[in-house]
Amino acid sequence: MASYFDEHHTKDDEEDERDLMQMQQEYLQQRAQEFYNSMHNIKPPTSKSALRDMEVVFFDKNRDKLYPECPVCQDDFKQDEQLNKIECNHLFHKKCLREWLERHNTCPMCRHELLTDDPEYEEKKLDTKDKSRKKENVFSMYS
Ligand SMILES: [Zn+2]
Ligand SMILES: [Zn+2]
Repeated sequence: MASYFDEHHTKDDEEDERDLMQMQQEYLQQRAQEFYNSMHNIKPPTSKSALRDMEVVFFDKNRDKLYPECPVCQDDFKQDEQLNKIECNHLFHKKCLREWLERHNTCPMCRHELLTDDPEYEEKKLDTKDKSRKKENVFSMYS
């Protein structure tokens, strides 16, 4: 008695199937690599010149009521306390921000990326800007 396998699997079918499996495997490998990269996407520290040129502001509880505390140490700001403001308009104690930015180049509040001293990273950043925008569009279709 011919089995299901004998009847339905001609040589062509098998080859198609093998191609499909290979494509799936390559696709999965690619996705796994992307995932790995994003998990191990270690951010370089903020550029020394960006740290040095950080905008200094004095806390004013009326003007800055949206951000009454330091996101790093979670202490309330005091009136007229000297703070640093990054270009995304978030406020931090000078010391807290410096400690953070010496290790990462992103705003602790909104992940806004700051300049680094790493030319390779800066190049990659320009490179991936378009790609990540496309990805965001795909995700927003499903959300
Ligand atoms: Zn602080
Ligand atoms: Zn921010």
